[in-house]
Amino acid sequence: MNEFFYEASPMRVHFGSGSRAKLADEVGELGLSKALILATDYQVPLAREISKILGPRSVGVWAGAKMHVPIESASAAGQAAVDAGADCCVVVGGGSTVGLGKAVALKYGTPIIALPTTYAGSEMTPVWGLTADGVKTTGRDRKVLPVSVIYDPELTVSLPVPLSIASAFNAIAHAVEALYAPDRSPVISLMAEDGVRSLLEALPRIVEDSTDITHRSAALYGSWLCGATLGATTMSLHHKLCHVLGGTFNLPHAETHTVVLPYVLAYNTPCAPEAVEALRRATSAANPAECLRELSQELGAPASLRELGLGSDDIDTAVAQATRSPYANPRPFGADDIRAILVDALDGAPVRG
Ligand code: NAD
Repeated sequence: MNEFFYEASPMRVHFGSGSRAKLADEVGELGLSKALILATDYQVPLAREISKILGPRSVGVWAGAKMHVPIESASAAGQAAVDAGADCCVVVGGGSTVGLGKAVALKYGTPIIALPTTYAGSEMTPVWGLTADGVKTTGRDRKVLPVSVIYDPELTVSLPVPLSIASAFNAIAHAVEALYAPDRSPVISLMAEDGVRSLLEALPRIVEDSTDITHRSAALYGSWLCGATLGATTMSLHHKLCHVLGGTFNLPHAETHTVVLPYVLAYNTPCAPEAVEALRRATSAANPAECLRELSQELGAPASLRELGLGSDDIDTAVAQATRSPYANPRPFGADDIRAILVDALDGAPVRG
């Protein structure tokens, strides 16, 4: 056993079908009484249902969450929380809505209670992001970590199948990079392996029947585990590349993760034997990288970065951005290595190795 450091996140987690019914009691148990509910415009009906569940503990719904947390929506939501006298925010939605709650928490220290409706995993991390003048700034701060998360698989049944697949691969990417992270630890590796297994087992069944709550539960359980691994470790080349592709070329977040992951995993495979062994167990495949690529294709996910809007002319810029500052990765890399990964991902080639 190698030396390791592990710090558990100080949060409460409720899991279960229909568990959103516990929300009002949970808010009360946390000593809170005035919750502003945050959501996207699209999820207003759900936000209203949550407001009803909260009853007198709801001070209203603010439904302007947007991708990448524009500073304008963060300021407006923060002001709404102040005006309503809120002592906490209940965020109901995916990573964009959780991100909005984090922006409010960052400025006002307002605790967050999260009800995730995608598999992105942001509710498990102290990482915040804010976009101003087209530039996204990110950071880590313990005060943006939700104090409580209620995982209710019923809230994910409406997630469209293509988004479910992409979101699940986004979660799997967290676990893959946690397995070879410089600050990995045995308990996090267990969570990562089981998270990947659970998501991969659930996905084909969700494609067959997206309303089956058993499989939705398995996927949400996997996403919890994968999100927890994201919150506990330092991400590497894959997350850096996806950050560059999303930030610079506005490529869709979860789909970009889905396309890029097999290529980065294939690149890192020779230098991450324990991670690959864990992924072999989780995928039941000798070559986890190719398995992830083939499975995503079978499930109907986008196959190439070109489909997502990247062009051959963009590769040079992406390589330059991805090599601008140093960051962790199990296998050393240079500009040529990143170019090879991106060229393969651009057209959805089979993985190397
Ligand atoms: P999202 O939150 O942007 O949601 C995408 C769309 O799906 C929205 O219109 C939303 O209303 C809708 N939606 C969400 N759940 C639904 C459901 N159950 N049924 C129907 N529609 C639903 O997407 P996402 O992939 O969850 O989040 C992406 C964002 O999260 C990115 O900006 C990313 O950077 C961020 N993120 C942050 C972290 C972190 O640790 N800070 C981690 C992962 C992702």
